[in-house]
Amino acid sequence: HGRTGLEVEDGVKYRHSAAQSTDYLRLALKHMTQHDAGMHPTSYTVWYEYVSGANPALRRELDSLLQGGGRLNDQKIDDLHARHISELDARTALRIGDSVSQLVGHVSESTAAAGDEAARFGNTLARWNEELIAPATGSGALASGVEDILRGTRQMQEAISTLRTRLAESLSETERLRQEVARAREEALIDTLTGLTNRKGFDLALAACLAEESAQSIGPCLLMIDLDHFKKINDSLGHVFGDRVLTTVGQILRANVKGKDTAARYGGEEFAVVLPNTPRGGAVGLAEALRALVAASRVRRSGDRELVVGNISVSIGVADRIAGESATDLVNRADRALYAAKMQGRNRVVLAPRPEAKAGQ
Ligand code: GH3
Ligand code: MG
Ligand code: MG
Repeated sequence: HGRTGLEVEDGVKYRHSAAQSTDYLRLALKHMTQHDAGMHPTSYTVWYEYVSGANPALRRELDSLLQGGGRLNDQKIDDLHARHISELDARTALRIGDSVSQLVGHVSESTAAAGDEAARFGNTLARWNEELIAPATGSGALASGVEDILRGTRQMQEAISTLRTRLAESLSETERLRQEVARAREEALIDTLTGLTNRKGFDLALAACLAEESAQSIGPCLLMIDLDHFKKINDSLGHVFGDRVLTTVGQILRANVKGKDTAARYGGEEFAVVLPNTPRGGAVGLAEALRALVAASRVRRSGDRELVVGNISVSIGVADRIAGESATDLVNRADRALYAAKMQGRNRVVLAPRPEAKAGQ
């Protein structure tokens, strides 16, 4: 077969025969039962693309995960799905949208050119008509021949003008489709539980922010935020409640991180905030405000009026970028500051030291 399942042709994504896909179903199922993730469509799609060989990049990453003897939970499966399947779909759609729009643009241009050409030709004929016929009335054969051509040209001009109108309509329709695809792509960068930017979106935002940075600019700063003792919250009050806590923290971040700043769900119970053009004092101030808001929040257990849980807290590591520092190094420094905040007793903010400061500058 050798067809990849990723290129969508005629709207069909998978073109495996019933017999072949049944084999893949068995193989996929075998994998699914060996892991912790639920037996849901996301998990099935990941394993289907894995066993069918349709998605080489996914296969490579999964193979190396499996070699390490890792078991995949829902989170890991979601992450693989987001990076190797949803995002690819969005990219394919975007590419299709772009090329359709380009095509219509080209056709529209050449039609306009043809229309102009026909108009010029028509004018020339009309001039000839006057010159030839006016002085010598009655030279019938030639005159009616020219009139025929003239009529034909007018019809052609009309047809071209209709075509131009239609093309203008297609062009605006294509633009609408492009915008829809762009929206779908944005959705692929959003975490469904909290509505914040997801990990992929965070990576893109941080990379864009570092690329934009000029020599004189301040910051950017990065906040890494991790819920304190979240395992205990999950264990004692349940995963569903744990998710409500994550949603609540997400709301606090969304309400307080705005403009050019990006709040993201970095993974599981970790969040991150990118603050372009922000001095470290400002970043520490925001981190402190966020910490206090989480500490003051109360989360109600659904269907249970009585149980309102407080004592939720986060630890935050803040790092301001050293000139030329890579995204990975910046994240690592913020992470180490976060770890220090945990060690110092949690529910606090720690600013990552800068190497220059250590050197006694
Ligand atoms: P610490 O204060 O040191 O951060 O302790 P912790 O318990 O928060 O840290 P640990 O990393 O050991 O545990 C994180 C837990 O978060 C484990 C996992 O069960 C839970 N978790 C991760 N993602 C999710 C999620 O999406 N929903 C829920 N409910 N729990 C999650
Ligand atoms: Mg953690
Ligand atoms: Mg934690």
